[in-house]
Amino acid sequence: MAETKSMEKIVNLAKTRGFIYPSSEIYGGLSAAYDYGPLGVELKNNIKAAWWKKFVTERPDMVGLDAAIIMNPKVWEASGHLQNFSDPLVDCKSCHKRWREDHLLEDKAIKPKYDKARPHDPRELHCPECGGELTPVRQFNLMLKTFLGPIEDTSGIAYLRPETAGGIFVNFKNVVDSMRLKVPFGIGQIGKAFRNEITTENFIFRTREFEQFEIEYFIREKDWKKSFDQWLSVMREWCLFLGLDKKDLIEHEIEDKDRAFYSKRTIDFEYKFPFGQSELYGLAYRTDYDLKQHQQFSGQDLSYTDPVTKEKFVPHVIEPSLGVDRSFLACLCAAYTEIEGGRSTTTESIKESEVVLKLPYALAPIKVAVLPLSKKEPLADLSQHILLDLKKNFVAVYDETGSIGKRYRRQDEIGTPYCVTVDFESLEDKKVTVRDRDTMVQDRVAITELLVYLKEKFNL
Ligand code: ATP
Repeated sequence: MAETKSMEKIVNLAKTRGFIYPSSEIYGGLSAAYDYGPLGVELKNNIKAAWWKKFVTERPDMVGLDAAIIMNPKVWEASGHLQNFSDPLVDCKSCHKRWREDHLLEDKAIKPKYDKARPHDPRELHCPECGGELTPVRQFNLMLKTFLGPIEDTSGIAYLRPETAGGIFVNFKNVVDSMRLKVPFGIGQIGKAFRNEITTENFIFRTREFEQFEIEYFIREKDWKKSFDQWLSVMREWCLFLGLDKKDLIEHEIEDKDRAFYSKRTIDFEYKFPFGQSELYGLAYRTDYDLKQHQQFSGQDLSYTDPVTKEKFVPHVIEPSLGVDRSFLACLCAAYTEIEGGRSTTTESIKESEVVLKLPYALAPIKVAVLPLSKKEPLADLSQHILLDLKKNFVAVYDETGSIGKRYRRQDEIGTPYCVTVDFESLEDKKVTVRDRDTMVQDRVAITELLVYLKEKFNL
């Protein structure tokens, strides 16, 4: 059985099966803006809930936060975003297309990857589209600006946060004072972030509005190596939980010269997406840079005092920084499985190729589908009862159209782990057939036992 996957097929499935739509499509769309459809929102919520559980609530040393998106602009002065959060931009003099110089250099494997002090030699690079000459580099700030209040003048300037971490740092003192936590401890947050990206590409991989999972884990300086390694293994486990294959994951140790000056160690998790190997997540040891910056700019004491030893210090941080949308995309790409010739042997459903979305069962948007063998009573009535019962515990759907084979294919395509078929015998023996998506094994289960059976399957 040959298997193939391409971005084109994945994007197409995402749209036609209700995972992701181009945003404002009836008005021609908006570049790099997407909407999560009915199945997409379920999958995304499942990913977010699983992250929150694994990284926050399951741990004794973590708490959560949900900070505002629009913050005091001084936050971004202190963090360095207003001065330095920029990408190197070049324009093609012929076709006027805009490019990120660092990406063009990476594509040509010209090292160092990017060095502000050493912009490219214009003869080295040309427009990838038309081969035209490129302009010298300009630094382009990625912060999305807005105005608060009725008058659009400088006093009202505010920014949509470019990352969620800022909200964590500025609340460090509040959390310490209100939660009586002892270092080491961390604060986790899930939320939207905005960047005016120059190039948007590859579906939801790089968009201007996106969501992040971020953690700042506060430690004593001497513990940084131990803590870094612990978070590294949590992130590895998380990648496997999403269904990503180990062989498609690359841990890229960022060299000294390419790291931010305050970071003593950074690892980028890269994933082999169908469009190429690209950054999925980052893990960084950021020293005490952030809290010290906020201390200096706010004039507030952001040090921590150990309640027992009375030792006073500004904590250092380990930052696991993950993208929600990139998690979704990697999960979708890993799950997409196309089987040439199909899996089934019954003639009615033999196709040239068959798609099975092999999502981890816990993440599947729909957990169970109820399929009556006939649309008519009394099967319809019994099936509706089963559906309503299941819906109290699972996201469940009903499908009565087409042959059973076709209905199985439809559910396989969206990753539904279990299909419950109600047939004429069900009226007599009060049992249904439960089919497993991946093994295609079918079990005959008593209707009264169905809930327990499925809960066991999902480890609930
Ligand atoms: P890139 O080099 O791809 O632009 P980055 O190194 O600037 O990413 P970080 O600032 O480290 O990214 O952000 C942390 C995480 O947030 C990334 O690893 C990624 O998962 C996610 N992320 C960042 N920018 C975007 C974006 N424009 N669209 C979607 N997700 C993003």
